[in-house]
Amino acid sequence: MALATRYPRVMLVDAARETLDEARRRIRSGGPLTDADDLAAAVALRLDAAGRPTLSRVINATGVIIHTNLGRAPLSIGALAAMQHVGKGYSNLEFDLESGTRGSRHEHLADLLQRSTHAQASLVVNNAAASLLLVLGALGHGREVVISRGELVEIGGGFRIPDLLRQSGANLVEVGTTNRTYVADYEAAVTDRTAMFLRVHTSNFRQTGFVHAPALGELAQAAHAKGVVLVDDLGSGSLLDTTRYGLAREPLVQESVSSGADLICFSGDKLLGGPQAGIIIGRAEHIARLKRHPLTRALRPDKATLAALGATLASYVRGEADQDIPVWRMMATSPQEIERRAEALVGRLGPLGAGFSVEDGRSAIGGGSLPGETLPTRLLCAPRALGAQAAAAQLRHGSPSVVARLEDDRVVLDLRTVLPEEDDLLTGSLRVLVEPPCAS
Ligand SMILES: *Cc1c(COP(=O)(O)O)cnc(C)c1O
Repeated sequence: MALATRYPRVMLVDAARETLDEARRRIRSGGPLTDADDLAAAVALRLDAAGRPTLSRVINATGVIIHTNLGRAPLSIGALAAMQHVGKGYSNLEFDLESGTRGSRHEHLADLLQRSTHAQASLVVNNAAASLLLVLGALGHGREVVISRGELVEIGGGFRIPDLLRQSGANLVEVGTTNRTYVADYEAAVTDRTAMFLRVHTSNFRQTGFVHAPALGELAQAAHAKGVVLVDDLGSGSLLDTTRYGLAREPLVQESVSSGADLICFSGDKLLGGPQAGIIIGRAEHIARLKRHPLTRALRPDKATLAALGATLASYVRGEADQDIPVWRMMATSPQEIERRAEALVGRLGPLGAGFSVEDGRSAIGGGSLPGETLPTRLLCAPRALGAQAAAAQLRHGSPSVVARLEDDRVVLDLRTVLPEEDDLLTGSLRVLVEPPCAS
């Protein structure tokens, strides 16, 4: 009767009812009878599952590095340690240890952000969408925000820039055309009600051909001449140059600062490789206004987020981001190294690995960063005979869950996004996948 003492009565009764219903259904459709011990065990399993959080670790074998559905950036060892260290006990979250009086949570990352981006001031909120909402609400409410028609974008999950503007109480003033917008278009739209020019990085698609958008520096000059604020929504935003990994150039945060943007918003968990957060950096006077806005209280980040983001930024300040931060390490992994790990994995499967092959493929960056850009990789391809859908489902339902890619009617695994320490677990999952069912 251990179950009766461990779980509330209602949970126990519900689990017993559901188990019996299921047994009846099975028997009605010709299944075997179930004895009382099996029923009790099934009730215990059901209760165990009900007591577990549904959010769990998965192995990302898709090769998409910043996979939004799989939690975007895996955290660095330093970030994880900082969350544990700060979260385990109390902290100086809003306490000034120097004076022994109340402090501000917003001060903890000020130095690190200043050093890594060269911006005067900063404010961190829950995510980049929230950072835009705050900037638009605080500086644009009841006023006009000028934006290019080429940048009225949907970021994903139905999150659209025009909707956000409406929500913030700012009036949207569209200028230019879908493909070409000039500085003069922005200038001509300025009235005494204009609060800002908003530049939105078109992060998840690319326009080519007969296109024009003003350089950020040009736009900053025009904004300042007209006495309006230039806000740059970078989306991902990167502190490292992506071209050194053979990729196109994702805009650098530092360049937005030096180009003269007054406020810059970017994500904590895209190319920065940290926890979910929205980072706003820029001129001290504007940041001070944001800090006083009531929305800031509603959007403030948790101590665990600040701890993880602090450790992540510290890696950049030390110049060790490319070694510490998983998304950069994944980008830097060579196809030869990926092949070596894939071959080793097949080797550990022994005779069961016979149907696997290792072939050329491409890994994606994902997460609204560098659309269409891929890196050469080597794919571990499962035997076609397993059936793509069935094999993918079995991998998802395993423990741990493995999320793979379906390509050419097969399951393929890209080890670029599998952490090296997960290779053994993945070997186990593949063994279960191809093992002949044991005769019992
Ligand atoms: C991803 C993105 C956002 C939103 O960032 P979240 O961190 O998902 O809130 C905003 N703007 C752009 C251009 C983006 O790419």
